[in-house]
Amino acid sequence: MFDWIYELATHWGVVFGAVALPFLISAAALTLTQYRQHRRERGALLPASAGDWLSKQVKRYAPSVEVQLHSQEGLDAYFPGVDAIGLSQRTWNGRHIEQWTIAAHELGHAVNIGRSPEMASLLPIARLATDAAWRGFAAAFLVGALFGSSWVLGIAWTFALCAVLAGAVVLADEASASIKAMEILREERAVPADELGRAFADMRDAFSLYAAIWVGQVLVLIWWPVLQSTAVIGTGVEMTQDWSIPALWLFFVLMPFFLLRAAHVVTQIWSPEPVGSEFRLFTVMQREAQWEFFTGFFILVIVAGLYDHASGPVFVLSVTLAAMTAIGPLSAVGRALVLFPILLTLRKYTQREQADDEALFPETRPEGAAPALMALYNNPPWYLRLSWVTNLAYLPLVIVLVAQIAF
Ligand SMILES: [Zn+2]
Repeated sequence: MFDWIYELATHWGVVFGAVALPFLISAAALTLTQYRQHRRERGALLPASAGDWLSKQVKRYAPSVEVQLHSQEGLDAYFPGVDAIGLSQRTWNGRHIEQWTIAAHELGHAVNIGRSPEMASLLPIARLATDAAWRGFAAAFLVGALFGSSWVLGIAWTFALCAVLAGAVVLADEASASIKAMEILREERAVPADELGRAFADMRDAFSLYAAIWVGQVLVLIWWPVLQSTAVIGTGVEMTQDWSIPALWLFFVLMPFFLLRAAHVVTQIWSPEPVGSEFRLFTVMQREAQWEFFTGFFILVIVAGLYDHASGPVFVLSVTLAAMTAIGPLSAVGRALVLFPILLTLRKYTQREQADDEALFPETRPEGAAPALMALYNNPPWYLRLSWVTNLAYLPLVIVLVAQIAF
């Protein structure tokens, strides 16, 4: 009984702790910065809403950029693929320095990326790469520890290194967007000098969230020798040819599901489903997330049921790849569970401010808003399509299992 608890705490505690460390540090930073923002006095009202102000500023700093209103919360972003800045309704309508800061920061991204066409691909790739690499690290660490396989652990280390390198590019991009944003705000006469301090504090807080993730990843790299020696459970599993196990039957039952999902992903990469409205877009994204979750969950169940019934490099590698598809959706659930109490606590602060804004400024909606997300989804750039290919990483395992059974 106590052995079992000890095992759970040392091996799995180390694996999941290391994988979640960047997120945990950033959740702590989020709590701290939100609390600090709440404690700060609210500044003066500025003469225009952030959306209207930004629409004027782009003419001067980045004339090709289109400013769009997004109805979803929390979608303030610059989309290099379609050269547009999307602001959420709350940011668009805000007339405090907080919302102007967000607008200026996104404009900073647009100006930086606009400097060279290479940047327009490099920066979004760095973002996708750092996420994908960390998922790869999580999968390889999990499988490497499970099988006691030193070369899979080597893959895990390589992935972690890639995540840190790509993350450094993201950090540099974030910092330079904020530096540019400070320049823009400093040149704006409508912003009083003492509001600039607030803008700086806001951007520093936002940057600290990105930095927290990166620091967590660097710590995992530094502690790697200790982490990997503590995590390993297996010492190379014996090959058995006993296929009369439940997981195998489950695999047969789920086979049509896996193949259907594969066909679906391939069609989506080849010719993305046209999305005509923002509502439709979010339904499609929701549906994708559900498919991904169930595929990931089933794969993990099969891996857990099969892992001590087979071994060999090909099997272990295909298990690692398959686990990659499971990490994303499952960690999303884990993150939601951790963030839920935090956000619930923070809500009472943010809600009051939101109510202020809404009472003062009724909704403004620019005519013919064509959300950048939709354009991005209807005609995705090559790197986005490539990132969808990772959804198929469970296919080698399906092939290996079918081959094992057939021969
Ligand atoms: Zn940014």
